[in-house]
Amino acid sequence: MNEPMQRLFAMIEGWGGKLERVNYVTYAEFVRARPLSFAPAPFTSADFGIFWKDKLFVYTDRVAIRPSELIHEMGHVFACLTPPRDLDTEEVDFLGWEYVLACAVGVDPVVWRRDNDQYMVTLPQSDGPVEMQALNDSEFAILMADRVFAAEKFGTIINGLPVAIR
Ligand SMILES: [Zn+2]
Repeated sequence: MNEPMQRLFAMIEGWGGKLERVNYVTYAEFVRARPLSFAPAPFTSADFGIFWKDKLFVYTDRVAIRPSELIHEMGHVFACLTPPRDLDTEEVDFLGWEYVLACAVGVDPVVWRRDNDQYMVTLPQSDGPVEMQALNDSEFAILMADRVFAAEKFGTIINGLPVAIR
């Protein structure tokens, strides 16, 4: 396992979460049954999902999870007070948290940005949402400054580092 993944796994445990590797049959059952508490990670080819209430991350080893994918689900679990499918959940509220966490554990920011290239974002004072890959470098910098500032106000980034709020 590479170093960012090891550090993310340690953070999950440090924040009171759990990681559980299950076999593919068990995982498929979760997805098929879709118990209300379970949310499969969309946009990933990995077998990976969370039980938000229990702060439990489940995965199989069939396809490896990318650090950026794990970081996004960690955002749901640790930096958001409502479960993924709740209408009050605004994923963009923890986008800055994800970016800061990626940098903190040694994920190359260029890789993180590319991994999130289909994430829909709205620049401050712009018309509407676009995919992150449509932004140029200065727009990306503006977006991240805006999202990190929002996370600081929300209390999920303190002294430049991501914290868990639940
Ligand atoms: Zn999400």
